[in-house]
This record gives sequence, structure tokens and C-alpha cells, in this order.
Amino acid sequence: MAARPVAELRFYEELNDFLPEERRKRAIAVEVDRARSVKDAIESQGVPHTEVDLVIVDGRSVDFPHLLRGGERVAVYPVFESLDIAPLVRLRPRALRDPRFVADTHLGKLARHLRMAGFDTLYGNDWDDERIVALAAAEGRTILTRDRAMLRRREVERGYCVRAVQSEAQLAEVISRLQLEGLVRPFTRCRECNVPLEDVAREAVAESVPEKVRGLYQRFKRCPSCARVYWEGSHYARMRGILARAVGGAPEAP
Ligand SMILES: [Zn+2]
Repeated sequence: MAARPVAELRFYEELNDFLPEERRKRAIAVEVDRARSVKDAIESQGVPHTEVDLVIVDGRSVDFPHLLRGGERVAVYPVFESLDIAPLVRLRPRALRDPRFVADTHLGKLARHLRMAGFDTLYGNDWDDERIVALAAAEGRTILTRDRAMLRRREVERGYCVRAVQSEAQLAEVISRLQLEGLVRPFTRCRECNVPLEDVAREAVAESVPEKVRGLYQRFKRCPSCARVYWEGSHYARMRGILARAVGGAPEAP
């Protein structure tokens, strides 16, 4: 019996995070039967297509539906990797200039951190995968999840599989891997409602902020949705610390 046709796949950089140890950073023989799409061959190895930005087959860039028939050498590169590949076909739109997110149900803390960093992030603790995927498609949002199966769905165009477990490390990871450093705007968005905050005069917060706090701080912001008041207290300092570590330097105050 003749050997089944195989293509040789090699994954680069952080795409190796998805592979078992023995398959990392080496050629992997993937059966293609008579024909198999590049997308299917990639995902058969557990790598979500949303993580992939560039596929080179025998020296030529191709898109996901490209069919493999056996004998090809396939190089698979990650999204958000800083290689200069300008002349080649990117599989998805470039940088997130106005990044907006929808976080899955396990990433509530990360969603709040992202809002505190100024990023529009939707989250609901009872949202199912269908709702998250539909929201992302309808509003052009990037899905944040630790469940890579969700990112394998065909309707998902933008997604990022968060590796870190602890929420502050997740924030740092998302900012650095998605290259959001220049877009951080601390304390511009309500961490509970995701609504942009408004400046509010100190005199106007007398009812909702203890006198001691009013004496200590100059600037206050209020959420027009839930009326929660924000000031540059200890939580602010803590968030500034997280953000400073995430972006590798202290972000400017709003
Ligand atoms: Zn609010």
C-alpha cells in the first residue's frame, strides 16, 4: 500500500505554545489525503487559525482555503509577530488601531483591567460561545479567551488565546502581544460598565465620595451609566503599576 500523502508543516515563534513538546520547532508530517485546506491542516495540530497571520507554501504566501495535495513544505507564522513581511499576503487586517474586545466568561478580571486601561471590552458572566462569537463578528471585536476551540470556529476573524492564568499577567500579555502599548488610556472607562468616564468637579461628588478622599485628591471622574466615582487612590496606583510593567514604562495620566 502506498504511503498516504503528507505535507510538512513547521510552526514559528509563539505558535509553538499550542504544540506538544515533541512537535515544537520542527517539521511535522500532516496527512492531507487527496486534498486538505491549509486551514484544516493547521488546526489539525491544535493551532487556532486566528493565531496565524502568514502561511508560506513552498516559498509562496497563500490563504487559508489553499489546498495541500502532498509533498509541500508549509511555514506557518503567528499574528502580531514583528517580522517585516510587507510584500506578502497577510491573512487578516493589520494592526488593531482601535482595538475592541469581547472577553469570554472566564476572563472577567481581565475585562475589568482592560477597561481600566481604556480599552472597550465587552464581557458577560453568562454569555455562551455563540453570543461571544456573534458579538465579535457583528462589531469587529477581537475575542479574548483561554479556550482555543472557540477560536477554531470559521466565523471568528480576530481572536487571541490568552496564555497567562493570573489576571494582571493576562493584562500585560494582551498589551504586549497585541502591541497596544501606545493605546493605553488609564482611567478613561468604567471598569464595571465599559462606558467612557466623564470629568466631574470635586464639589459635585460630595455625596458619593468620603470627605477624607475629597481632601486628598484633586481629580475625579464619574461613570454616566452607574454613577460610580473614580479617583487616583490606591487602586489607581496599583493599576498604574500593572500598566507600567505591561508597557515597559509609566503611561501618561489622562
Ligand atoms: Zn459604570
